[in-house]
Amino acid sequence: MSRPPRHLADLGLAERRLAVTELGERAFRADQLSRHYFARFTDEPGQMTDLPAAARQELAANLLPRLLTAERELSCDGGATRKTLWRAFDGALIESVLMKYPDRVTMCVSSQAGCGMACPFCATGQAGLTRNLSTAEIVAQVVAGARALASGGAGDVSAAPSPRAAAAAARVSNVVFMGMGEPLANYRNVVAAVRRLTDPVPGGLGISQRSVTVSTVGLVPAIGRLAAEGLSVTLAVSLHAPDDEARDELVPVNRRWKVAEVLAAAWEYAAVTGRRVSIEYALIKDVNDQPWRAGLLGSLLAGHLAHVNLIPLNPTPGSKWTASLPPVQREFVRGIAAHGVPVTVRDTRGREIDGACGQLAVFPGR
Ligand code: SAH
Repeated sequence: MSRPPRHLADLGLAERRLAVTELGERAFRADQLSRHYFARFTDEPGQMTDLPAAARQELAANLLPRLLTAERELSCDGGATRKTLWRAFDGALIESVLMKYPDRVTMCVSSQAGCGMACPFCATGQAGLTRNLSTAEIVAQVVAGARALASGGAGDVSAAPSPRAAAAAARVSNVVFMGMGEPLANYRNVVAAVRRLTDPVPGGLGISQRSVTVSTVGLVPAIGRLAAEGLSVTLAVSLHAPDDEARDELVPVNRRWKVAEVLAAAWEYAAVTGRRVSIEYALIKDVNDQPWRAGLLGSLLAGHLAHVNLIPLNPTPGSKWTASLPPVQREFVRGIAAHGVPVTVRDTRGREIDGACGQLAVFPGR
């Protein structure tokens, strides 16, 4: 299978300088190109007026190939939530979602085309894995969001409660690896993408590491590796059940790494990074929403650096499951909170455009 073309976002700054000199240009041209991409969000040679006209085309063709083409855009929440369907060089299709809040903008990115984890309640899991995305293909989703915001194409920020909030809402402030794919199954490219997203300009986009969240089904060895990277990113663990019996069904990889091992890896991550781990839990009617499971979850998490993010199940095609009823959800929240564990219910965005958690999938003709 052929690989996506090389892009400057695949490379660290030193490697970019080398690549530029190999093209016969001075090394500092790499920094100029990088600023165009990471600070002005452009890959159009015509706009790079600080580069000699003769060099622009060649540099751009070699280091800024167009990786993703927008196939379709859907929006809801009055334009505050926008889903883009992208086509990659080989026809692979992926989706990203831009979510604007009064004080921040969150970009939800895909790390793989499809997903191999086969969680039965998640639409992405149903078609299997197509391929890993390259580092630059992941970064390109965020740069596209930043470009849309900078050009005013993603709504206005007048609703911001303060000037500081307005500044945060004018750029992509947060990135969550919660789109298609299992980020830790594409470890190398995802960690490189995190570095590109968080390195200061011109190395990268300059987003705060603390504002990046990597969500995983619980690939235990990779959680350990991530803890050792020296990054301050937030880890989210898609737990969905506190017991192996239910989790074996909901998150099939649990047959390999059990709840106890996943949580041990999460606590290790919290100890090494000092970051609170987010425990994701989709509430599914009569499947994992019983009071005893809330109690068990609370007791497993009590005393640890963790908070629970409950997600009302989003509908997916062909699934027999539905979201828990509101009183059951409230009872579940109380059952966890009784153990002194912080718990929130996710304000789910994008359900109307199949852009919410677990709904990202590319169906022909939809
Ligand atoms: N593979 C990673 C990244 C995807 S994150 C992971 O699983 O963590 C997407 C989040 O949405 C995960 O927590 C996932 O379990 C959850 N999710 C999947 N399908 C869902 C659905 N139908 N309703 C609500 N949440 C869902």
